[in-house]
Amino acid sequence: MNSTIDLNMVNAYIPGRVDVGPATAAMIARRDALLGPAYRLMYEHPLHIVRGEGAWLIDPDGRRYLDVYNNVASLGHCHPAVVDAICRQAATLATNTRYLHDTILELAERMLATVPDTGLAHLMLTCSGSEANDLAYRIAQVRTGGTGVIVTETAYHGFTDAVAKFSPSLGASVDLGAHVRLVPAPRQYHADGADLADRFRRDVEAAIHDLRRHGIKPAALIVDSMFTSDGILPAPAGLLKGAVEAIKRAGGLFIADEVQPGFGRTGEHMWGFQRHGVQPDIVTVGKPMGNGQPIAGLMATTDAVAQFGKNSRYFNTFAGNTVSCAAALAVLDTIENEGLVRHAAQVGTFLREGVAELAGRHAAIGDVRGVGMFVGVELVSDRAARTPDRELTTRVVNRMRDRGVLLSACGMGHNVLKIRPPLVLTAEQAVMVIAALDEALTTAQ
Ligand code: PLP
Repeated sequence: MNSTIDLNMVNAYIPGRVDVGPATAAMIARRDALLGPAYRLMYEHPLHIVRGEGAWLIDPDGRRYLDVYNNVASLGHCHPAVVDAICRQAATLATNTRYLHDTILELAERMLATVPDTGLAHLMLTCSGSEANDLAYRIAQVRTGGTGVIVTETAYHGFTDAVAKFSPSLGASVDLGAHVRLVPAPRQYHADGADLADRFRRDVEAAIHDLRRHGIKPAALIVDSMFTSDGILPAPAGLLKGAVEAIKRAGGLFIADEVQPGFGRTGEHMWGFQRHGVQPDIVTVGKPMGNGQPIAGLMATTDAVAQFGKNSRYFNTFAGNTVSCAAALAVLDTIENEGLVRHAAQVGTFLREGVAELAGRHAAIGDVRGVGMFVGVELVSDRAARTPDRELTTRVVNRMRDRGVLLSACGMGHNVLKIRPPLVLTAEQAVMVIAALDEALTTAQ
């Protein structure tokens, strides 16, 4: 017998109701009993998955789902080069950072080689993007003697206590710190031709001024250059320049959070900040770094970490473990060997153009945007007024899942479809996404 699951209980991002089979219902009940209620956030779709294969996830009955909500297995699930590297390393030496080993040094060389002429000279490893931003913020506090942080209005930078305090997308569940200032994200679709770079710079300057007025010294401006949780906002190239100059003039650091846009996803460069011609003091990385292995970290200038190195020792048992480092090396090799940055640009453009064509038939599509393998589709109830349609967005996400395509929603009005396929998505698979969206928009109205 099938059960109806209330998605508000399962998934804070995609409210609604969905019918699930008895096996999935039993699994959700076991999860709640064994892992506790807080785990609900972690499993967005009540799907029971047993296998991954390229862009596909496969359930126990052999049903296949095209996973276009995937910024972790960015090379596709179980990429053979990564699997091979993991197996070989695990069979040779699987250990932590108490000892020197070659893999961590080789990884540092390879990562730093992706940011030539930037002054970024050191790699520090963590197990998650949250820890990377936590560490970056600690480094910024030591370097600047300040605590003030500036982030965008619906930003997400992680879940540790310090970082959650500057992750407003967590909503009412977390109190933002008194040392945190929010600035509007650059929403081109709603900007009516305004100069977004100038506006962003002025907003950051005002935030700096306000921090000082309250006796708080600015420590950092932290930006995800794709503004992913703000609604996938591919800001015009160069947009960050004035704002970065402003924070540096004020004595603070610029931290580029590359957990989402990094590792070639923008289809232009390896790192999203490179679109803007700016010089970060710290770059935080994660998600696709190990194609599923837990590895993240930061790259920093000598100037940023010098004082931190004198005052503090950094130790994190599993960070920089040999197996995760081997996976990350295989990821870097594969991006290069398979030309995935260029592939992301080509297939991503094809996908966006296909979705944009649907706008001729579906008045609910207000805006289609993105770069590389980032596609944001803003759904509206009134195109002229650009009124967010959250309910329709929820229905479309659920219909697409029923059609075997997994994605999510983001943005201030929760009305932006977040399409973030693996870099290896093929043109044929892009056509499947477009067809599923077409049908979902037709039936979900
Ligand atoms: N920064 C950004 C921009 C993110 O999107 C996320 C996670 O979604 C994080 C940091 C936190 O990374 P993690 O979930 O690995 O802790």
